[in-house]
Amino acid sequence: MDTLINTIFPKGDPAPAEYFTGKAWVKPLVPKDDIFNSVIGNVVFEAGARNNWHTHRGGQILIVTDGIGYYQEKGKAIQLLKKGDVVTIPPDLVHWHGASPDSEFTHIAISTNTQKGVVDWLQPVTDEEYKQYNK
Ligand code: MN
Repeated sequence: MDTLINTIFPKGDPAPAEYFTGKAWVKPLVPKDDIFNSVIGNVVFEAGARNNWHTHRGGQILIVTDGIGYYQEKGKAIQLLKKGDVVTIPPDLVHWHGASPDSEFTHIAISTNTQKGVVDWLQPVTDEEYKQYNK
């Protein structure tokens, strides 16, 4: 299993278990406010961990800093993510993100236009859905 050697930020606090499968940690970097309207956090996922399906009313940008991860938009194939990848997620698009099965994974998550809302959680990503990645 790959381990993270290029971590930039502290691991932070455990992510809320009700919205994640497996373990993840969130380090808040920029809080919600009415000046920047952007919430920024560093998220670390253990191998196999992922968040539930969800949407962002104001959209989200992911910047991958370490490890190998997955990103999926509803109805599309799972995409592989690696260090240096940037994902732009339009408002209200149903999606999830997390680690691949054999690697920890870290991204910076920037939720934009947060005056419209930060995140709306949906159902967990099942093991069956998670296994659908095709190399
Ligand atoms: Mn998201």
